[in-house]
Amino acid sequence: MIFPGEWLGVLGGGQLGRMFCMAAQSLGYRVCVLDPAADSPAAAVADRQIQADYIDPDGLAQLAGLCRAVTTEFENVPAESLERLARDCAVSPRADAAATAQDRRREKRFAQDCGLSVVPYQVIAEAADLTRIEAALLPGVLKSARLGYDGKGQVRVDQVAGVPQAWQSLGRAPCVLEKWLPIEREVSVIVCRGRDGRSVTFPVAENEHRGGVLAATIVPARVDAALAQRARAAASTMAERLDYVGVLCVEFFVLPGGELLVNEMAPRPHNSGHYTIDACSTSQFDQQARILAELPLGDTRQLAPAVMLNLLGDLWFDQGRLRPPALDAVAAIGGTCPHLYGKLEARPGRKMGHVTILGTSLQDALARAGEVSAVLGLEPVR
Ligand code: ADP
Ligand code: MG
Repeated sequence: MIFPGEWLGVLGGGQLGRMFCMAAQSLGYRVCVLDPAADSPAAAVADRQIQADYIDPDGLAQLAGLCRAVTTEFENVPAESLERLARDCAVSPRADAAATAQDRRREKRFAQDCGLSVVPYQVIAEAADLTRIEAALLPGVLKSARLGYDGKGQVRVDQVAGVPQAWQSLGRAPCVLEKWLPIEREVSVIVCRGRDGRSVTFPVAENEHRGGVLAATIVPARVDAALAQRARAAASTMAERLDYVGVLCVEFFVLPGGELLVNEMAPRPHNSGHYTIDACSTSQFDQQARILAELPLGDTRQLAPAVMLNLLGDLWFDQGRLRPPALDAVAAIGGTCPHLYGKLEARPGRKMGHVTILGTSLQDALARAGEVSAVLGLEPVR
């Protein structure tokens, strides 16, 4: 194991990196963040920052020289950077696992190779693909194969004739055309897998997206035990088959008949796992730090039913005027755990923080979340 007092590193300075730093520090490690920005959320709490681009050879050499092990906090870390770091220190996730999650085409093939179902889709990578579009996929959604997040890089398409223009609008980059499905519920599972191959999963989370962005997470998910078990098993299989080391999130769609489809995976802690900070004995960030330091994985038991609400930058504006949300009123509601990421500038759609609401039962947590939503002017959770 790597002993407390030694250095752990993280590529990326966003809120996930910030929460990783806090978890690693509470175990006694020193943490170094590499990020190009001067004032990132993670750098504000890290013991040291290397301000450099993610592909900068000097920056990477410095990070690898200082740290015993390095992890990542965003999906699109260049695989070459992970390979470069791996020459000098332990790196998780590995470059090939990150590369699989970074390309929707590889990701879907991989899920299918694991024996799991995915949304019906077709690859649109070159102009010739436009001549053989399957009509059954419409109405659908065209997604760029790489670099999409929070619903970005996606266009809805109603009919076959609309696909060429949609592809044009995505810069004719490699894409997947997916059928738009009548989703009953979205759920996700976070798997944590150590270097020794042991793995644990957190309880299944139920996610409500608005405009392609996560708005709320409810845990435990309101699905039957058999479906929850299938989702946890599917996520474990994926981590196993990737020989994944680190924290991995798998997002699923549940169809009205109970069919479970893999949507996508994220090779890092996930927004739908933020509730674990307040509601579980070990958070997803604690697990990330434990894995990096080669400590045993923690218990994933959930200690209280929870609802997590994302606080987007929109809440900082009132008819175009800057006005911070009423966090004092939120804090006054019993069971609320507000988390702000220290971002200096609010912008619509920007993830500024989240609130986890704990209840004595899920019904109680949902009722308290209703109060929080009302105070903030958020649409209530479904
Ligand atoms: P991102 O990488 O931006 O998270 P996703 O593929 O997860 O991209 O899409 C974001 C959200 O859009 C999903 O969580 C879901 O709510 C909705 N969505 C995406 N694909 C489909 C689909 N094929 N059918 C119905 N809803 C979809
Ligand atoms: Mg998603």
